[in-house]
Amino acid sequence: MYDIIIIGAGPAGLTAAVYAGRAEKKVLVLERETFGGQITHSPRVENYPGFLQMSGNEFAEKLLEQAMNQGAEIELDTAVAITKNGEVFTVKGESAEYEGKTVIIATGAAHRRLGLPNEDKFTGEGVSYCAVCDGAFYNGKDVAIIGGGNSALQEAVLLSKSCKSVTVIQNLPYLTGEVKLQNELNNKDNVKIILSSIVASINGTDTFEGITIENTETKEKTDLTFDGIFVAIGQQPMNEPFKDNVKLNDWGYVDADENCVPESEEGIFVAGDCRSKRVRQIATAIADGATAALAACRYTD
Ligand SMILES: Cc1cc2nc3c(=O)[nH]c(=O)nc-3n(C[C@H](O)[C@H](O)[C@H](O)COP(=O)(O)OP(=O)(O)OC[C@H]3O[C@@H](n4cnc5c(N)ncnc54)[C@H](O)[C@@H]3O)c2cc1C
Repeated sequence: MYDIIIIGAGPAGLTAAVYAGRAEKKVLVLERETFGGQITHSPRVENYPGFLQMSGNEFAEKLLEQAMNQGAEIELDTAVAITKNGEVFTVKGESAEYEGKTVIIATGAAHRRLGLPNEDKFTGEGVSYCAVCDGAFYNGKDVAIIGGGNSALQEAVLLSKSCKSVTVIQNLPYLTGEVKLQNELNNKDNVKIILSSIVASINGTDTFEGITIENTETKEKTDLTFDGIFVAIGQQPMNEPFKDNVKLNDWGYVDADENCVPESEEGIFVAGDCRSKRVRQIATAIADGATAALAACRYTD
């Protein structure tokens, strides 16, 4: 019987494990894929306070080591369901079942990907999913934003302040983001908008060179050269297996209060990118991890 079962070994989950371990709780962390979460896809992190530069993997390895040093047990298993019987939670994994007094859901969110060849190869080296994280690497350079919703347009506004040019490429014949953002972009000399076009390929052999787009009406293909592209076609929170345990909002995120307590059965906490919030970064994920862990510790005391 664990005191706290944490689902997800990203920055939020591992930080929760560090704090709960230091409070001498018996902690289990379940991870379905990559210890460290999304940040392991980033070769350079320059906005984590106190560290001038590090790779996402370096950060993830240190955080994992820190959680294990505090006594956390780590299992590679995908949590598929949570049930509660009396005061005891059972987290059902694909490989085993685990019992605990509390559960912290820290399953994060995944950026929707284009699903094209070369996408993995050039992620972090030409293909990015986060202008706040990676925009500074493209100062004075030519970039494209793939997408035309609010996130895409906000990223375009941000990048237009530091990049030489920003090309917004949208699959629909119109942009779906707010008109105010559209007007802001239309008034900028360094922003170009291409509608009714999808990305047909990501080009480059050893290094990223650009993309080929295809017009959805004429089927005409055009090669475009960029220093980098930012894919902003939405995020997918990983909360679906727990929809019977916690209330999900219309976008699949969990609304929670400032103590990381969601609308749910008592004893469940949520932390990190899987929560509704405006800023999804390591700094906000680890803040949630600490908060959720201490709330869970109080619950078990
Ligand atoms: C390419 C890239 C670059 C980035 N660069 C920066 C940056 O420079 N600075 C910055 O601050 N932020 C950056 N971010 C954002 C940052 O990585 C995220 O905000 C942060 O990782 C969120 O942490 P999290 O723990 O909430 O979620 P995640 O990192 O998403 O971790 C959640 C973990 O839960 C696991 N999981 C999901 N479902 C289950 C399940 N059912 N069972 C078990 N495990 C499960 C996932 O596999 C994952 O490992 C970047 C993101 C990306 C994609």
